[in-house]
Amino acid sequence: MTFSSPEPVPSSSAVAARLETVRRRIVAACRASGRAAGAVTLIAVSKTQPPEAIEAALAAGQRIFGENRVQEAQGRWAGRRDHLPDLELRLIGPLQSNKAADAVALFDVIETLDRPKLADALAAAGARAGKPVRVLVQVNTGAEPQKAGVPPAGVAALIDHARSAGLMVEGLMCIPPAEEAPGPHFALLRKLARRHGLETLSMGMSGDFETAVRFGATHVRVGSSLFGERKGPETPSSD
Ligand SMILES: *Cc1c(COP(=O)(O)O)cnc(C)c1O
Repeated sequence: MTFSSPEPVPSSSAVAARLETVRRRIVAACRASGRAAGAVTLIAVSKTQPPEAIEAALAAGQRIFGENRVQEAQGRWAGRRDHLPDLELRLIGPLQSNKAADAVALFDVIETLDRPKLADALAAAGARAGKPVRVLVQVNTGAEPQKAGVPPAGVAALIDHARSAGLMVEGLMCIPPAEEAPGPHFALLRKLARRHGLETLSMGMSGDFETAVRFGATHVRVGSSLFGERKGPETPSSD
């Protein structure tokens, strides 16, 4: 990965304009594939972003955000939640079982369920908190050894396990291999979701969200197209 020299934080009007552009592109992709304009939800990926960028997105009406680290997200959002009743926070990064309670407390949806032990930890945390736990199962569609997610062949068993534990399994999520065309991965995720009667498909990022919309995404996760390139190192988080 390469790091560009420090970029200025995009101005509030720049973030608003980028949001508008991405929303338009989503609507155009919906139209082009015969889907209703409101069929796709934009998740603004706010990881690593400074407060000004968050404020600009909120001022522009964005309310659904994705974060990939529990502690970082707590710092960014815990103080804002009370003033934003319609805020929706979605965890899109890997989660350790020992952070399950924190994740359940902060997030509305956890998109990265990928193993039975984590399902058990989330269910226990939800029971203690008296909060239903909404999850997506993350699928490693490219069967990449270093990447999180359950392999396609393990999806059925993990869904069963999660449902038996009491989790609300709403759908599937994937991150296709960076060096491959994403279409076949999106198609596989859609096929798996249909097979299990799941509605939600979280797929597509800045570089490929229009393709994802064509393949049936209900949620796209967009970061750099809204906020500019991220500056910090993006370690795959372990929290
Ligand atoms: C960072 C991240 C995104 C957003 O990526 P961009 O290319 O900046 O849009 C989407 N999904 C996940 C899981 C991520 O970690």
